[in-house]
Amino acid sequence: MKTNNMYYFPVFFLFLLFIFPFQDEEKYSKMRKNMVEHQLKTRDITDPKVLDAMSKVKRHLFVDDKLKNAAHNDHPLPIGEEQTISQPYIVALMTQLLDVKPDEKILEIGTGSGYQAAVLSELADSVFTIEIIEKLAKMAEKRLKNLGYHNVKVKYGDGYYGWKEHAPYDAIIITAAADNISPILVEQLKEGGRILLPLGGTNYWQTLTIAAKKDGKLTNIRRLSDVIFVPMTGEILKKK
Ligand code: SAH
Repeated sequence: MKTNNMYYFPVFFLFLLFIFPFQDEEKYSKMRKNMVEHQLKTRDITDPKVLDAMSKVKRHLFVDDKLKNAAHNDHPLPIGEEQTISQPYIVALMTQLLDVKPDEKILEIGTGSGYQAAVLSELADSVFTIEIIEKLAKMAEKRLKNLGYHNVKVKYGDGYYGWKEHAPYDAIIITAAADNISPILVEQLKEGGRILLPLGGTNYWQTLTIAAKKDGKLTNIRRLSDVIFVPMTGEILKKK
């Protein structure tokens, strides 16, 4: 029987269309694996749960399409509105320092792309995250919902005031630089809970700092490595 070759072309084309997304996924999965091997394991990221979360969360889906191929590079990237998604290593380091347990409730200040929140949500019971730029808050909320991160809730607002409704939190992470800590956030932290932030002058570098709450106050303040973050804006700038 004579077969008409003309039928082959559309079938082949449809097949390509079908496998293309899978090839794409495989490419980014390899990039994530490389990032974990060469940027995290070779430095001081040793917590298997953190390494696992960093391998799982699809970082390329948290940046603009044009930047997808650069998403796993060893540096921060722009996310619009003059803000950035942190370098993968810094996200992993902060997650490791926070030492999240599966039954914990976390508050993040500075949602940005939603990437740090997604990584935390792999380890925590629930994550509440606040973003002061409405456009970024809406984008992150939509993205996290589409990706199935149902244990993350996003709020548009000034993180200085925290999110009272869901307080107290087991841990608070601030992913924007500030030279002081909002007393309202300390109030919303559980007794024995911890707070982690890039603390210091917002013009140059800051120092990743972690503290614990004891008898209503922050104690056991440990200053760790130097980092560079975009500044926390809003009410905090009026307080010194
Ligand atoms: N965690 C983010 C990156 C943070 S960039 C990520 O994973 O992509 C810092 C973010 O903090 C910016 O989006 C900035 O708009 C936000 N921000 C700055 N001041 C804030 C405030 N007072 N309250 C809430 N968000 C704030």
